[in-house]
Amino acid sequence: MHKLLHQAEAVLFDFDGSLCRIFATLTDWAAADRVLSVLGLAGVALPPHLITTSDPIEVARFLATVDDREIALRAEQELRAVELEAVAGAAPTPGGHEAFRAVAASGRPVAIVSNNSPEAVEAYLALHRLTGLTDVVLGRMPGRPGSMKPHPYLVTMACMLVEAEPGGCVLIGDSVTDIEAAKAAGTLAIGLASQPDRAAPLQAAGADAVITGMTDLLATA
Ligand SMILES: [Mg+2]
Repeated sequence: MHKLLHQAEAVLFDFDGSLCRIFATLTDWAAADRVLSVLGLAGVALPPHLITTSDPIEVARFLATVDDREIALRAEQELRAVELEAVAGAAPTPGGHEAFRAVAASGRPVAIVSNNSPEAVEAYLALHRLTGLTDVVLGRMPGRPGSMKPHPYLVTMACMLVEAEPGGCVLIGDSVTDIEAAKAAGTLAIGLASQPDRAAPLQAAGADAVITGMTDLLATA
């Protein structure tokens, strides 16, 4: 991991998990529920797994399958509003900001590649005085849920925008979808397993290294 991070030309950070837990004060359940009620009120039939989901991103993925584009966009708008509200009460990941600052201070480009809305990420950066450390913030595009990780689109775009070859970039993320997106885009990947049972799936997805906390990055950033 030390070598990976040290040799990287550019470093890409996932947002939710790596820098903070966005749904902390405003819970993921409440967020998912609000978006689902937009769909429910519009009469969209929901698959059983979605009715009980606590993952707003899972709901965002489902929007790709909603035939009525207007309803899908209305639900996406609601999710964007909820994410923005959630930012105020988001819980910073221990060591996350420090790692982000340390990489930026090393003079290398840093980017954020998130399945959350870019507006929510920008709002979080502003709230925590991290704006200006990166000018590349990529997030979920309205009406294009298929562009979310594990699709490589956002990772590939980030590499282009920081003007680095994918092979010279490393992505740090806490989800299997982060690792899958990184591998598909041709970057290296560091998995963040904040709980012991999260390590094996990240490794299986092809993570080049797995860390147990963002503080692990500090010594070498
Ligand atoms: Mg994440």
